[in-house]
Amino acid sequence: MIKLKKSDFEKIVAHARKEAPIEACGLIAGELSGGDKIIKKVYILTNVDHAEEHFTLDPKEQLTAVKDMRANGLTPLGNWHSHPVSPSRPSDEDKRLAYDSSASYMILSLMDAEPVLNSFHIEGDKSEKEQLVIED
Ligand SMILES: [Zn+2]
Repeated sequence: MIKLKKSDFEKIVAHARKEAPIEACGLIAGELSGGDKIIKKVYILTNVDHAEEHFTLDPKEQLTAVKDMRANGLTPLGNWHSHPVSPSRPSDEDKRLAYDSSASYMILSLMDAEPVLNSFHIEGDKSEKEQLVIED
């Protein structure tokens, strides 16, 4: 199970809507508790591709975020990005670039009026939806 605070969910949605039609992206960090992942902090990073169908996290901002995680005793848990006009599931490219099978890959779809966020475990060309809990 992966847990996300409602306020962090709203932060992701607000940023992704602002960036659309460009894909928005960032990192997630928190703690591992048993088999669960608890997200304590969501980082918003620049998509250096400025593209509508793919993203690359800004390497400098990534380094700064990882330092911040270390300073705050947080574990890197994965990343998130938006799909402005496509469903909340990994594209072939998303799977190709998902090199870390222990990470969670969160994808926010804005194609419908209601935003849809899912979290995935990706290994090779297989992706599996994780149980995502969004709570206050
Ligand atoms: Zn994608």
